Amino acid sequence: MKILKIDHLGIAVNSIDQAKSFWTDVLGLPHEGNETVTEQKVTTAFFPVGESEVELLESTAPDGPVAKFIEKRGQGFQHVAFRVENIEAALAELKAKGIRLIDETPRIGAGGARIAFLHPKDTQGVLVELCERHD
Ligand code: ZN
Repeated sequence: MKILKIDHLGIAVNSIDQAKSFWTDVLGLPHEGNETVTEQKVTTAFFPVGESEVELLESTAPDGPVAKFIEKRGQGFQHVAFRVENIEAALAELKAKGIRLIDETPRIGAGGARIAFLHPKDTQGVLVELCERHD
């Protein structure tokens, strides 16, 4: 598997509107706009940082995965996303190595990226996302 870089860090927040001033006004990062991924019940906002990005995640429904995460653990760091060259090949390789996958096949995430999550039980509790996109 070829990991190209850390694509982004996902941070769960109660409100993107309230959270974004830290990233923009305080840190001076650009805000690339918001996007809602209906299937995941989440609105995302991206803030580019060099070769990577910060992704703020706000739930659109009380039963969404981000709402459940905040309920259990509070706001904060939620996942790390690695950009891979070929997501199918990466998932097949991880599966062969005994890593449990939340997504056996890629789905479409924010920005049209193809993404898949690994099971945190096999990654020391860190939710790991693989993502393949070309920009
Ligand atoms: Zn992500």
